Amino acid sequence: LTSDERDVLARIEEEDVDFLRLQFTDILGTVKNVSVTADQAEKAFTEGIYFDGSSIEGFVRIQESDMRLVPDPSTFAVLPWRNTESGKAARLICDVYDTKTGEPFSGDPRHVLKSVLEEAQEMGYTVNAGPEPEFFVFDKDEDGRATTETHDAGGYFDLAPKDLASDLRREIIYNLEDMDFEVEASHHEVAEGQHEIDFKYDDGLTTADNIATFRSVVRATAEVNDVHATFMPKPIAHINGSGMHTHLSLFTEDGENAFHDADDEFNLSETAKQFLAGILDHAPAVTAVANPTVNSYKRLVPGYEAPVYVAWSDVNRSALIRKPAARVPAASRVELRSPDPSCNPYLALAAMIAAGLDGVKRELDCPDPVRENIYEFDAEKREEYSIETLPPNLGAAIDELEDDEVITSALGEHVAEKFVEAKQAEYDEYKAEVSEWEHDQYLETF
Ligand code: ADP
Ligand code: MG
Ligand code: MG
Ligand code: MG
Ligand code: MG
Repeated sequence: LTSDERDVLARIEEEDVDFLRLQFTDILGTVKNVSVTADQAEKAFTEGIYFDGSSIEGFVRIQESDMRLVPDPSTFAVLPWRNTESGKAARLICDVYDTKTGEPFSGDPRHVLKSVLEEAQEMGYTVNAGPEPEFFVFDKDEDGRATTETHDAGGYFDLAPKDLASDLRREIIYNLEDMDFEVEASHHEVAEGQHEIDFKYDDGLTTADNIATFRSVVRATAEVNDVHATFMPKPIAHINGSGMHTHLSLFTEDGENAFHDADDEFNLSETAKQFLAGILDHAPAVTAVANPTVNSYKRLVPGYEAPVYVAWSDVNRSALIRKPAARVPAASRVELRSPDPSCNPYLALAAMIAAGLDGVKRELDCPDPVRENIYEFDAEKREEYSIETLPPNLGAAIDELEDDEVITSALGEHVAEKFVEAKQAEYDEYKAEVSEWEHDQYLETF
């Protein structure tokens, strides 16, 4: 056992943990659990825990179904909302191995992200990522099912007494802090029932783990309070949807921010601009991964603070990428505003980072920032500024992904193939549906 692994065993003992949830995510980003009793921990570290992968979405074909989970000791955390008299539960996030080859399983999203981060490392960089996940809290009906009735009537930054959900938000934050999150900001969002909790940036892998954990903590804490929290991107038409703006930067081996240049007009280094240009270049394909549901595209429409046009800006929030003001060099970063919290955080970060790194490798030229409100541009003006539009729906986004070799190879053949297959099926199924809107428009008209 390594010393980190021994520390985990000691903490299991100290905290009197009875159950361990060994976690990993499938290609769609759903957290899967294999529960074992705490006395299995040592075996999990030394031998791994075997499970049948054929039952997991997009994982494997039946004939190659044996998988092995190996816990990452740095991810040990006691689950605060399970902290009851009846015995504590803790989780460990795991890497998935193929039992046949003994190699990391190519369908493991965490492995996909690790590979992209290794590439950054080879280029001399640590990738930092900081997300701003938004979510809605809704009441449940008598049968305990989620409704779309908002739980409160607060508005942006509104305080009590209107913000009835602030107690819930506080409880979520305490739970996050118990799990070692450094929560930087939290507030009520623009829409009724909508919230945002920002936590401190970290290296790409830790941040992806954190996003997965964050979603579990929010959902579980809501559940305990008998309300429903959702990360669905656009649960209600005609009001803001939920995004997950993602801030990115590259630090050098000596901890310097490679994105900072004090002499530049925008305080952005050449590396930062190339990275930014790379994301702009691959934006359509990245969208398929960062906005992976049919519903994601109902958020990416003009007028609700979500991006639609492929451009960057240092002043306004209608662009795809924003350069936030940075008071200290460490805070120089770019903010990608398209991702939404329905994404698989490992794959979405892998796609964004691979796009940026490709820009650095190819030393891409960064276009000028757009300082006007792009929502107000007409097609002609967009043409004049060479501003492209994000894919309008999941089907178009998948086509873009299939055509982008940089992003598909960052995902790896296995994941790219399974992801496209699953998402194409989802889109085809959606296309064949007839919606309430169509009935309202056409049923009595024709
Ligand atoms: P906004 O103005 O869009 O609301 P915030 O200030 O809330 O932005 O966003 C902060 C996010 O950016 C946090 O997650 C924060 O930790 C992260 N962040 C700060 N500096 C960096 C950096 N150098 N690299 C990546 N993320 C960073
Ligand atoms: Mg914020
Ligand atoms: Mg927000
Ligand atoms: Mg933001
Ligand atoms: Mg296609």
